Amino acid sequence: MDHARKPRNFGDPGHAGVTVRAENPMCGDDITVYLDADGGEKVGGVRFSGNACSICVASASLMTLKTGGKAFDEVDRLSKAFQSMVTGADAAGEDVADMGDLRALEGVRQFPMRVKCATLPWHALDDALAAARKGETEGHVRVDT
Ligand code: ZN
Repeated sequence: MDHARKPRNFGDPGHAGVTVRAENPMCGDDITVYLDADGGEKVGGVRFSGNACSICVASASLMTLKTGGKAFDEVDRLSKAFQSMVTGADAAGEDVADMGDLRALEGVRQFPMRVKCATLPWHALDDALAAARKGETEGHVRVDT
């Protein structure tokens, strides 16, 4: 996948409003997601860095592209819809329509071990948004079985 080989918005920006480290020990994914909040209600930009498998990197790369400039509430909705899609839970029809490129990851639902790889960046972003809402600057997410 193109996004796995050439991830977008990859690399430590040097400074970020909120920094969240996310680990998935089952696979070895270890990433950091950087959120810049624009006024506390809108995502200014999202970047990520770290070492992760191709599914995790592709998911994170697409996530940074889909969430920049969006309101926190909109990102919450997208995150829920994405996680529903890859876990095979029912997603609301209107949300799925917004998915676009993210649908490329829909196939991971057939591989339970890989679902955590695809959702890890989104768990990190959920945590970053929660931190931003509370005025915090750091978070840590660890996905276990
Ligand atoms: Zn992985």
